[in-house]
Order: sequence, then C-alpha cells, then structure tokens
Amino acid sequence: METDLNKCKRCGQCMSVCPVYQATFQESDVARGKLALLECVEAGTINASERLESILSRCLMCGACSQVCANKVETTLIMQTGREKLFETGKKGQTERALFGAVREGRLSAKVLLKGGSLLQALACKKIPETSGLHLRFPLSFFTARRTAPPIAWKPFLQRAQSEPAVTGEGPRIGLFVGCGANYLFPDTSRALVRILRRMGVTPVIPGDQICCGLPAYVSGDTETARESALKNIEAFKSLELDAILTVCASCGSHLKALPSLFSDDSSSRNAAASLAGKHMDAMTFLVDHLDFEVFLKNLQSAKPQKDTRPLRVAYHDPCHLRLGQGITQAPRRLIEALPGVQLAEASHPGQCCGHGGEFNLSHFALSMKILDRRTEDFRKVNPETIVTGCTGCLLQLAEGISRNGLAGRIEVCHPLVLVEKAIEP
Ligand code: SF4
Ligand code: SF4
Repeated sequence: METDLNKCKRCGQCMSVCPVYQATFQESDVARGKLALLECVEAGTINASERLESILSRCLMCGACSQVCANKVETTLIMQTGREKLFETGKKGQTERALFGAVREGRLSAKVLLKGGSLLQALACKKIPETSGLHLRFPLSFFTARRTAPPIAWKPFLQRAQSEPAVTGEGPRIGLFVGCGANYLFPDTSRALVRILRRMGVTPVIPGDQICCGLPAYVSGDTETARESALKNIEAFKSLELDAILTVCASCGSHLKALPSLFSDDSSSRNAAASLAGKHMDAMTFLVDHLDFEVFLKNLQSAKPQKDTRPLRVAYHDPCHLRLGQGITQAPRRLIEALPGVQLAEASHPGQCCGHGGEFNLSHFALSMKILDRRTEDFRKVNPETIVTGCTGCLLQLAEGISRNGLAGRIEVCHPLVLVEKAIEP
C-alpha cells in the first residue's frame, strides 16, 4: 500500500473520469486527493479516525481512475485494503443488524414497510439466508431513502430450478452461477438464460448448493466471509465437468474472475479458485463469441415470417464491473443489434457509472442519486423505450433513476437476455 500511494504523481488525469469527483468537484473525492490524504494518514500528520472512513467510503470502486492512470496506481486495491483494516477494527457491519432490530420492535413506519414490501419481510424473516449479499445491499437506509424497492421472488430461481426436471442437450455442459440479485430480484433474467441455452442445444447445469459470490462482504472489508463464500461455491461447481460457468450479473462475474486473489497465502485454495475463475464467462459474451448467436438468430429468422413493426428503441448501459472489471463492451451491443425489431440508441457518455457502487449507494445515497440523475439524463435524451444492462446492481439503480425522474411507464429497464429470450421464443 505504501509503494502504491507513492506511485501517484498528482498528474490529475483521474479527475476526467471519476464519477464522484464530477458530481462534487471536491479534491478529496478523486483518486489523487484520496491518495494524498491517505499519505497524510500514514505519515501521522492527520488523524486517521476522523478522515479514514470518509475517504474510503466515498469511492464507487469503479476502477475508472486506474484505467486512465499512466502510473498504474491501483486505487481500488488501496481502498479495499483500507476497508479491510476498518472492518478488522470493528467499525463496520452495524447497518443490517439495525434493520432486523427495527422490524422486531415494530419501529418501522407503515410507509417504509409498504415500500420495502416482500423484500423487507424476506430479509427480516430470514427467508433470504444470512449468507446472501442482499443483507449487505439492503440495510434499513435502503428502504427509508429510496422511491422504489424491488419485489422479491417468493420462489427464488435456484429453488424453482431444482424442482424442474433436468434437460440434457447434445451441446456443451454449461454451469450457471446465479448470484443473489438474479436469484431473488431478477429471476426473469436467469430463466431467460436457461431457455436461450436450451433452445440452442446447450445443457445448463445449476448446482443448488451455490451461494452468494461474496462480493458485498468483500467490498465491506469482510474478507473472511468472502473467502468462506468462495470455498462453498468452488465446492458446489468443482466436480460437475463443465465447459464453462456463466453469470448474468457483471458484479458476480468480476468477483468470480478475481477469486484467486482472495487466497494469496493458500496455494491449494488459490488453484481451486483459479480453476473456477478460468471457466467463468459473462453469459452475453458466451452467446455471441462461443455459440454464434448471430448466425443462430439469422437461421431462425429465415425460417419464420417477419413482422413489419416499428422497431423498439433500446439503450444499453455499460456496467463498470463488465466494462472495466471484465473488459466487455462489444458483446452486449452485438447481441442487442442482432435482435429483430430492435434499434440500439447509443446514449452519450457510454461507460459512465450509474452511481450504484454497492455500499456507496447506501452510505452516500444523495450523492449516488446525483450521479444517477446525470446518467438518467443521458438516456432520456435518446428517448429509449427500454434501457438494458447486464448487472443486477445497475438494474436496481436505473429503475430508481427512471422513477425519480418521472419516466416510469415510459421507459422499461431489464437485462438484455430478457429481450433475447422474447426474440427467439417459438
Ligand atoms: S491519474 Fe494516477 S498518477 Fe495521476 S493523479 Fe490520478 S492516481 Fe495519481
Ligand atoms: S474507483 Fe471510481 S469512484 Fe473511486 S476514485 Fe476511482 S474513479 Fe473515483
């Protein structure tokens, strides 16, 4: 950490891309300012307890600064190391306990209960297991501050999938790592992927003992819990002889790719993590790069009469965990552009963060909304009927942006796979 702090040459290049700085214009919010403050904390010239948590938490961990930094300063790694230290000293982890206490003691207002609906009940009644990252994603502040709370699937995707008969195709055996968002909040996305894969002759394999990827715990600084989740998932997938393991959520996907880094001091677990990470692919990339989806679709279209209808205007939002975390920008666009009756409307500032950032959205809600409003305005200008994105965190955030900007009913938000499934349904 010391070496990385010293690597910053204060050039200011990161100012041009940092979504937090662009919303506040405060030097302490950009990587350059954060690193300078951290140097002071390390040198003991400012008080660590007063400044450290604020410096570390006012970061979306999007990685945009590191991407443009000529000196290769790994800002997110530095922030993560600091968060781990804060967690170890016991200064974090109180928020979710406050939620359950408030529900038990009947201290939540009717308005909050109504807004939180089934999700709040499911969290409080332990319908969603404690190992799920949703407990970290949705503390009490989520329900009190937001306009929208997502409905929850009372029969989560994984539970439903286990009760359905397995269908074996002739193609490859492909594992699905579902993740909490696509299990409880967006099961339509997971279902869409299964139907698309089956239609294309692939055998989807969905182990029922997989759990949360561990990312919410990891970014909160709770590395121990993140390691435990990783080991359980490695066990769930390891003997299934899969050709690939797909995710529909960019956040889960980027975390699976980075799993080996959790085990720097344990070579056996690191190798097992590398084996899982090596098989991981984002579902959209798998469809276009490995299953020739565009050719499949062309053949499908030539076999059935085409309807002459007005095209659906669709805008695509790049999740940071896909664009920067996995280097994927073209596969989702190719997928959307291949769809019949769909017109891709490219919004300005492609790659701009939506301001979700997991924990950031909870601890800095107003700032998160300021970043979101700018992104929503980019989309509003191209007048889409649907905004699609490949991350469950971005799906939640963009739905909030649509609602708070008076666009509900005019613009839908969904995963691109939901449109793909519609396009290929028999
Ligand atoms: S771009 Fe890199 S070197 Fe330049 S100020 Fe930002 S963190 Fe420092
Ligand atoms: S990771 Fe993103 S939010 Fe954090 S300092 Fe870098 S650009 Fe800004």
